[in-house]
Amino acid sequence: MKRVLALITLWALLLTGCGGAAAPSSDTQPGSADEPATRTVFAMDTFMDLRVWSDQGEKALDDAEATITTLDAALSVTNEESEIYALNHASGAPVLLSDDTFTLLSGALALSERFGPALELTVYPVLRAWGFTTSEYHVPTDAELAALLPQVDDSAVTLDAAAKTARLPPGAEIDLGAVAKGYAADLCAAALKARGVPAALLGMGSSTIRTIGAKPDGTPWRVAVQAPFEEGYAGVLSLGEAAVNTSGGYERFFEENGEIYWHILDPETGHPAKSGLLSATVVTEDALTGDALSTALFVKGLEDSVALWREKRDFEFVLIGDDGTLYVSEGLKDAFAPYGSWEDAPLEVIAYED
Ligand code: ADP
Ligand code: MG
Repeated sequence: MKRVLALITLWALLLTGCGGAAAPSSDTQPGSADEPATRTVFAMDTFMDLRVWSDQGEKALDDAEATITTLDAALSVTNEESEIYALNHASGAPVLLSDDTFTLLSGALALSERFGPALELTVYPVLRAWGFTTSEYHVPTDAELAALLPQVDDSAVTLDAAAKTARLPPGAEIDLGAVAKGYAADLCAAALKARGVPAALLGMGSSTIRTIGAKPDGTPWRVAVQAPFEEGYAGVLSLGEAAVNTSGGYERFFEENGEIYWHILDPETGHPAKSGLLSATVVTEDALTGDALSTALFVKGLEDSVALWREKRDFEFVLIGDDGTLYVSEGLKDAFAPYGSWEDAPLEVIAYED
């Protein structure tokens, strides 16, 4: 852990506000058999790297970029023109949402109900108290947190599906940061498929990767799993069409008096979630579910994550414990290969049955 901590400052510099890294051997780097059309988009506080294998490549990329830009403008918590800003400042009044924002919000609230209290979109006022919204970090007092925690309650968000409106109790605010990149990936995938694109790799920053179709050269897509608080990769996943989402404390954090405070909070305490995990990577069919899940598993920790997985088995995971152990769910045991120095790390395959 000492060596790991020594690398933190450098890594923080590399990661602040940007994603898009992946293992040299993974498909998030150039150099595949057939040349894809590529585009980099800066949105949602990260660099997105889109690759499309199709004779419709440029038009498909235009569609994807427009989709991302529109969604980013609608969901920003700080942009005074955004739909979420309007919702957060409506003092309890219902606010009309666009179709995509309404669909995302209702999908995300259903996921927060399933994974709660690990995932609470209404945790935003607490995130602000820590300075994660402005990067002016500070450790809030217990009294500050105690005053904010009653507003953290996703069940108090009211939706009207017929009117396409949402309403928050006065004082409550939401942030879709935990799910926005996943939903953006799904919307882009739908836009590309509507153009008949057979194969694409969407890197919505390094924490959300969505593959479409099969890789043109017939080999599996290779998606890297970031090594937490280190430069480099803990492993590589070989996959068909899938969504891969990772949540980790290393993505955004600050240090005060020797203690590390990161941007994923435990909504029950208002403190950064210290569940014994350094990162949670989830493989799912759709990226919205995966994005919500990776945040939720990071908060839940190993035991509760495994219990959730065994309930439905509708996702697979790679969890990295704070002692450096890799926990790989049974469905990924052949797809996941540790990488570099992580080949020597302890690896436990978690079986479907206890
Ligand atoms: P990233 O966006 O860094 O790839 P996540 O998908 O895990 O990672 O989302 C983290 C973001 O979600 C935080 O920056 C914050 O805006 C928000 N957030 C933090 N903790 C929670 C939580 N427990 N529930 C819902 N949203 C959260
Ligand atoms: Mg997430």
